[in-house]
Amino acid sequence: MNDLSTKTVLITGGARGIGAEVARKAVAAGARVVVADLLEDEGKALVAELGDRARFVRLDVTDEEAWQRAADFTVAEFGRIDGLVNNAGISTGMPLETETVEHFRQVLDINLTGVFIGMRTVIPGMKENGGGSIVNISSAAGLMGLALTSSYGASKWGVRGLTKIGAVELGTARIRVNSVHPGMTYTPMTAQVGIEQGEGNYPNTPMGRVGEASEIADAVAYLLSDAASYVTGAELAVDGGWTTGPTVKYVMGQ
Ligand code: NAD
Repeated sequence: MNDLSTKTVLITGGARGIGAEVARKAVAAGARVVVADLLEDEGKALVAELGDRARFVRLDVTDEEAWQRAADFTVAEFGRIDGLVNNAGISTGMPLETETVEHFRQVLDINLTGVFIGMRTVIPGMKENGGGSIVNISSAAGLMGLALTSSYGASKWGVRGLTKIGAVELGTARIRVNSVHPGMTYTPMTAQVGIEQGEGNYPNTPMGRVGEASEIADAVAYLLSDAASYVTGAELAVDGGWTTGPTVKYVMGQ
């Protein structure tokens, strides 16, 4: 269903975690991919694994000139950009009272301004091509007020809003813009704060477990593909039901 054989996709934060799974799925679905990240060793190893239809480019998503270079590189290598996955991000947690202004600005710069610059960079080329698909990775923290996420949550609510604005502005240009909202997902980001895979390991979510990066990547591949040709401005939660509501266990104390 998610055929990407005519598509070239640029994936930020693609060297590991969710971004790397998106790159794997996209190549498996026939796409050409450019993995863009700060992590050169991991990114180069991944594109070596993926073969001929994958390239790596170093990108700091906060750097406007680096964005232009990454887009130019993608067009030079593969001729066009059909899909952009704004996935790069950092996650932090601390109480609102102890969050610093400097750190808050840094998180917004990477997680939100980086998405804005990315969208802005690819829009002209997508218009020339007659359309495209932009998938912005927000979070469950962009759908609810999650404690200890003032900077991260604000950035992810911002990504959700920017997605809707893009969808409205770009609809007639046939550029679709959607957000994906992962719940707690097993990746290097969450492994480093002690999240574990497996059934029963995440009881405050209806499905009782954390997600796998490949499960998030499936949703992204769908939104990149023509199977989602009438889907824009949507927010797709891939969260095991986390944002739907508290589990019976937590409400009724069972
Ligand atoms: P990860 O830390 O494993 O991967 C993130 C990637 O982004 C890394 O390769 C990192 O080098 C890259 N990156 C960070 N800052 C960058 C910058 N300035 N420029 C370019 N690349 C940069 O994390 P992940 O869990 O795979 O997360 C991917 C996305 O999914 C993030 O936006 C994250 O907020 C979101 N998300 C993750 C979860 C989860 O539970 N893992 C939940 C909700 C949302």
